[in-house]
Amino acid sequence: MKEFDYVIIGGGCAGLSLAYELEIHQKLKDKTLAIIEPRSEYKGDKTWSFWKVAPHNFDDCVKKSWENFSINIPNKINHLECKDYPYQSIDSGLFYKKINDKLKENSNISFFKSIEEISKKNSFIFNSVPIIKKNHLNLWQHFCGVEIETKNNFFDEEIFNLMDFDCEQRDSVHFFYTLPFSKNKALVETTWLSKMNDNSQKDYDNQIKDYIANHLKIKDYEIIYKEEGAIPLFYPFYERERNKINIGTAGCMTRLSTGYTFLNIQEHSKYIRENIENISNSKRFEISKKYQFLDDIFLRVLNKHPEKMSNIFFNMFKASPKTVIKFLSNKSNFFEDLKIILKMPKWIFIKALFD
Ligand SMILES: Cc1cc2nc3c(=O)[nH]c(=O)nc-3n(C[C@H](O)[C@H](O)[C@H](O)COP(=O)(O)OP(=O)(O)OC[C@H]3O[C@@H](n4cnc5c(N)ncnc54)[C@H](O)[C@@H]3O)c2cc1C
Repeated sequence: MKEFDYVIIGGGCAGLSLAYELEIHQKLKDKTLAIIEPRSEYKGDKTWSFWKVAPHNFDDCVKKSWENFSINIPNKINHLECKDYPYQSIDSGLFYKKINDKLKENSNISFFKSIEEISKKNSFIFNSVPIIKKNHLNLWQHFCGVEIETKNNFFDEEIFNLMDFDCEQRDSVHFFYTLPFSKNKALVETTWLSKMNDNSQKDYDNQIKDYIANHLKIKDYEIIYKEEGAIPLFYPFYERERNKINIGTAGCMTRLSTGYTFLNIQEHSKYIRENIENISNSKRFEISKKYQFLDDIFLRVLNKHPEKMSNIFFNMFKASPKTVIKFLSNKSNFFEDLKIILKMPKWIFIKALFD
């Protein structure tokens, strides 16, 4: 069976980002790479959104970028600016096409549907297929979104809604977000932070229909795209092996308090590319322990007091938006962390430390 220098298991966001990063920096000129991906065709299946706190390779796949946003709880709305770190949405369809077109130019890169088709005995493996085991909280972010096209111009495309908690909570944490791509097109997504075993929250179609009709007050529209998914708010099982690194969700690149993963994947890809010549001996790249610790406390509070979370998120944004964005994107310094911590209800968080 054929052997390769590198094998990437899973040609999704992390696998393709890494392959692209290696390819454009000439790291695959004299090395061979196998990408294992079972899907038979690539089509847009996700909209990756994030605050642009660091450069990435996919500016030409940005569907829309915003410098203003809002967050609201019942009867209160906060309008905020994010000029320093615009919020971007990447079209996964454009992302897959751009990368696959580039990778096909290099005959050192081969694609396979199953790992059984190659020998991986002497390869270095980058694995993006997570092994999910239950953890003590077992919380998930699960969601469903539709892109709608309205008959008449309806949306203000200059401002997006990050979180709208003015919706039923069903003893969990629930919000909608709306990303207006143009005056008559927007992604409307229902998002739950809860234990996944609760199917009572998965009537997504009804939730979205009701929100569009009764909150956004839109009558005439068509659904042109739909996405659905779930992100574990705990780290998948990760066994240290000398010839293997996990990447993406499997590689613990998700910020557990928010689900943001895309930009961490890009930073991880860059780190691997910079260290590829000595990758077996490189330090494991991870989201700083500081954020792992703070997110763990945050999720314990969320698990115990879901009813308090809408106010907690709302009040967090009373610190300057720049500070909050840096905090949520792993870029904050000690003083910025402190500003956020001071916005939190202290006793609940202190008690969560000892739970
Ligand atoms: C619908 C959705 C929306 C999201 N939106 C955002 C967002 O707005 N911002 C953000 O930062 N993050 C977001 N995320 C989280 C995260 O960025 C994505 O999940 C991202 O795709 C993770 O990349 P990945 O490579 O780890 O996983 P994936 O992109 O899922 O890639 C894994 C790949 O492995 C393949 N695979 C599966 N089984 C095997 C196997 N046995 N062998 C080989 N290959 C296999 C799959 O087909 C897939 O292509 C979202 C997640 C989802 C599900």
